[in-house]
Amino acid sequence: MSATDKQDSRAVDPSEPSAPPELFVLCDERGPILYAPLGNLMARANAPAVAAALAYARDPSTVEEMSGDERAVVEALGERGFFKHRSYPRHAVGFQPVQVTLFPTNNCNLRCSYCYAFGGEGGGNGEPLTRMDLCVAQRAIDLIARNAKARADRGEPIRNFLVSIHGNGEPFCAYDLIQQIVWYGQDVSEELGVPAVFNAATNGVLSEEQLDFVVANFNSVNVSFDGLPEFQDANRPMAGGRGSFERVDHTMRRLSEAHVGFGIRTTVTAAMVDRMSDIVAFVAERYPGLEQLHLEPVWECGRCVTSSNVMPSSEAFVRRYLEALEVAQEMGVRLVFSGARQDMLVDTFCKVSSGSFTVTPTGDVTACYEVSYRSDPRSERFFFGRFDHDLGDFVFDQEKLDALSELNVHNIRFCDDCFCRWHCAGDCAAKVLDGIPLERHHGSVRCQISRALTLNQIQRKLDWRPTDG
Ligand code: SF4
Ligand code: SF4
Ligand code: SF4
Repeated sequence: MSATDKQDSRAVDPSEPSAPPELFVLCDERGPILYAPLGNLMARANAPAVAAALAYARDPSTVEEMSGDERAVVEALGERGFFKHRSYPRHAVGFQPVQVTLFPTNNCNLRCSYCYAFGGEGGGNGEPLTRMDLCVAQRAIDLIARNAKARADRGEPIRNFLVSIHGNGEPFCAYDLIQQIVWYGQDVSEELGVPAVFNAATNGVLSEEQLDFVVANFNSVNVSFDGLPEFQDANRPMAGGRGSFERVDHTMRRLSEAHVGFGIRTTVTAAMVDRMSDIVAFVAERYPGLEQLHLEPVWECGRCVTSSNVMPSSEAFVRRYLEALEVAQEMGVRLVFSGARQDMLVDTFCKVSSGSFTVTPTGDVTACYEVSYRSDPRSERFFFGRFDHDLGDFVFDQEKLDALSELNVHNIRFCDDCFCRWHCAGDCAAKVLDGIPLERHHGSVRCQISRALTLNQIQRKLDWRPTDG
């Protein structure tokens, strides 16, 4: 569906006045598309126009040898900013977090067949089921709240601190701890005069009391749900083996009624891929409060390696995603796939490179949600601190933080020629760099999905603005 070409600006920083502007040529069934991601500029053009644009971008003096038509093309594109020098995006450096993600427990009341973390089973390496000490959560909140105040006092646009409750298990299996975390955060907020925001990611199997607490205290919730009752019951059973649909359905109806902003994350297996449109229609109709549906192909790791779940082919995922997108647009639901985000200009896929402050139940600090056990060989890369019980505070490893900062698309040669490089930014490091150095980043099957869906986003923009052609 897509073919890309790029004029060679490798290893050249366009922020330098002498550097050529970054211009890609994409192709779809209607012909070439000129794309300048840094300027969010796109235009359909015929082959001679593309050739003139690339020649001019490479060397403006070539305009002297161009025909009148070619000059007119170059002039028109120039007026729209296609040849303007722009800086590459760069993630913030310096670790002064105002957000923390807390994993209260690795216990879980479900046994999802593809769980990357072996929830409820200690990560698959025999690590014990455990829960976070309250003092660990409290010091983490102290740290981000103080940072938020200090940064706001310095005039930075920081309006709050954010506590996200997540887990390598189901966080609400440690409900009493979550209550204490939220109450503590609220106290600190009041004391410092900085608003606190609370988010939660949950499997949705919550008691009435827990639901009341969520509705009363959380700003937004993400529910992992496999889209249709039969998939939910088959892939995300309770620890005892029963289906979980009824419980999760109840939770999402309650959230809808209570007007709590919530999103659904659906993991798509090969067995589910042909039903993606049905999934969208089902959740959009049944849960009117739904803000966003995140569809992600299953990644074969964790429990998935030994279960029957397999990743859908990228072709099938793209085809069905685009069909589902039509349904989502009709029904007013925002559809998301993590690698397709044409509206973002970034050099990192997630916050892993800026030292995302995520605390595991054992008090280890990891930059990656999916790497949460010391026994995971990837922890060598992603763990960059821990709670020191003798000190009563966190200690961080600056060398690790510096190394994490290098995990960005500026340093990934494989992505140099990809038109998604400032959007996808090298994809999820935990998946793509499973135990290999950055130099050996060679993408994955997800690249085909990211590129196809990003191209579709570009095409939609072109269609919405036909005068751009
Ligand atoms: S609910 Fe989450 S942590 Fe628990 S088994 Fe399922 S995917 Fe794993
Ligand atoms: S590296 Fe991947 S798994 Fe880890 S936090 Fe980032 S997106 Fe999530
Ligand atoms: S990981 Fe793949 S899709 Fe993403 S920027 Fe790199 S080459 Fe492009």
